[in-house]
Amino acid sequence: MTGFLKLLARNRLALAGGIVLLLVVLLALVTPLLPLAEPNVTNTSARFQRPFSDGALLGTDHLGRDLLSRLLWGTRLSLAVGFAAAVVAATLGAAIGIIAGYYGGRTDNLIMRGVDMLMAFPYILLALAIVAALGPGLFNALIAVAAVNVPFFARNIRGITVGIAHKEFVDAARLAGLSNTKIILTEILPNVVPVIVIAMSTTIGWMILETAGLSFLGLGSQPPQADLGSMLGEARSALITNPHTSVVPGVMILIIVMAINLLGDGVRDALDPRLKSGALSRPMASTMVRRRDPVPAPEGKGLLEVQALQTQFHVRDRIYRAVGGVSLHVKPGECLGIIGESGSGKSVTALSVMGLVASPPGVITGGSVRYDGEDLIGAPYRKLRDMRGRNVAYIFQDPQATLHPLYRIGDQLIEAIRAHHGIGRSEGQARAIELLKAVRIPNAEQRLTDFPHEMSGGMRQRVGIAMALANDPDIIIADEPTTALDVTVQAQILSLLDDLRRSRGLAIIFITHDFGVVGQLCDRVAVMYAGRIVEEGPTQSVLETPTHPYTTRLMACVPELGGGRRRLEAIPGLPPVVDKLPEGCAFADRCDRVQADCRAGEIVLERQGTRAVRCLHPVTPLTEAAE
Ligand code: ADP
Ligand code: MG
Repeated sequence: MTGFLKLLARNRLALAGGIVLLLVVLLALVTPLLPLAEPNVTNTSARFQRPFSDGALLGTDHLGRDLLSRLLWGTRLSLAVGFAAAVVAATLGAAIGIIAGYYGGRTDNLIMRGVDMLMAFPYILLALAIVAALGPGLFNALIAVAAVNVPFFARNIRGITVGIAHKEFVDAARLAGLSNTKIILTEILPNVVPVIVIAMSTTIGWMILETAGLSFLGLGSQPPQADLGSMLGEARSALITNPHTSVVPGVMILIIVMAINLLGDGVRDALDPRLKSGALSRPMASTMVRRRDPVPAPEGKGLLEVQALQTQFHVRDRIYRAVGGVSLHVKPGECLGIIGESGSGKSVTALSVMGLVASPPGVITGGSVRYDGEDLIGAPYRKLRDMRGRNVAYIFQDPQATLHPLYRIGDQLIEAIRAHHGIGRSEGQARAIELLKAVRIPNAEQRLTDFPHEMSGGMRQRVGIAMALANDPDIIIADEPTTALDVTVQAQILSLLDDLRRSRGLAIIFITHDFGVVGQLCDRVAVMYAGRIVEEGPTQSVLETPTHPYTTRLMACVPELGGGRRRLEAIPGLPPVVDKLPEGCAFADRCDRVQADCRAGEIVLERQGTRAVRCLHPVTPLTEAAE
């Protein structure tokens, strides 16, 4: 709640709207206590007094009534009716929407067609018709305004409810034997309340205007009772001769509606958590680059050479150092494993290579990424776009999320091929079939017309790999491609990648958190922790003589077949949050070999032959391990 208020306060306009509205509401609340003239007492000898005249700060109207007093009492009434109408409309509308959305089928059809009929009328006309039927009066105006707004809420809330009613947690509640009423109250309602609040905050202004409109036409508040609309209506005939009688209520309506709308927009933005992180702002075409340090000179290692890469996320005043100076390289036909716990910066490293980290909030602040000797960081977007998929392709963790749910997989494959090759559809189709065969999908010809949801997880990931292969890339970056799959499918996918690597000379960067997988596939492995590489070396050598305590702990997490009974050791504690990295070794707090000097400043990645480690007190001395 305080977070919400803070967020709201950050939005200057919303804050201003909120303060103004608060003042108006306070004024309306204390009106009965103020030493005001009676609002309805006429005094024809003092008609149309100008503002700032004696005894009438805002002047008087055509019957000599004090305008200030009428304004405050009128504001009170208008606010009350507007809020009441909004609450009634929101409650009824939400109830109707939830019932229609939750029960679906015939209930839904019946209710929504009724709502459609109401919406087919111009709503002011509908409101007029309702008041005409009920008779003029403020209460009837309230009913009319509420009634014409019910469909708006009902439609909105129904849409949200339909989306929620089929989520797994609702199914789980059903399986747990909860009644429909209980499910609606405890599972559905909490999820739609923010939407109701947002819809309300953006429509209250309208409702106040609509009520004022009805009063203006003489259908709302009846004389001598004042509300803002009726004050305007009575002042109409004196608009030219005594404009202040119209200006006073008019300005008040303007102030109230402006304040409510500004506040409402602020509430809407603050309640949507995606707006906080900037996730809804459109990311730039490639990651923002702001390099201050000199760009490292190329060493000419491998096809892809990443040097001292730094990628950060700038979220408001926080800086998350997701990647803090990572260097790695791959040669053609080589497989490099990157391993580390969740959150250690593996994905961000991989995405930085092709400038795919979303900006904002992502910024590349240092280092270089060389492909075939050419620095890609800060390269023009056209260049990157041309290389994405053609030279460096990605396979992501969740094929369900990477494949478009509404297109057939054949079309998606053909699209991927045609992005880089100007070939015809039939040729594209032939190539797509060839690709599906290459990733060992049986009946490739028939599978082309499948939608992603018609395939199993393993099949979808094969399609993901086929898409990565579509343009014969030199490097494939696979970001935990088997994490969502079961072990047998995982083994098939791994052997498929291995074959592809050998037959096509692909370089693979394989990201995982499982040392077992690294052992099967990778020539070399880099262990990442808190955005940095802490150990590197040929897989076999690292597996035999791990040096960094973190590596040994990661390896202890892998069960061994036939290794006898032993406890699988989890690593105690959590990785550090990357916006507050500790001084010295980031692993110190979780390490059982920690000593005072571990926390005393920068620890370098020491190299010895093919091995490297960033540790002052390694498990095995580096010189020994490198032999
Ligand atoms: P993993 O090793 O599991 O792939 P990531 O590379 O996805 O980890 O994330 C590295 C770090 O960057 C994490 O600590 C994560 O919290 C942070 N991070 C990732 N995306 C964002 C973002 N949009 N805003 C702020 N921090 C982020
Ligand atoms: Mg990841």
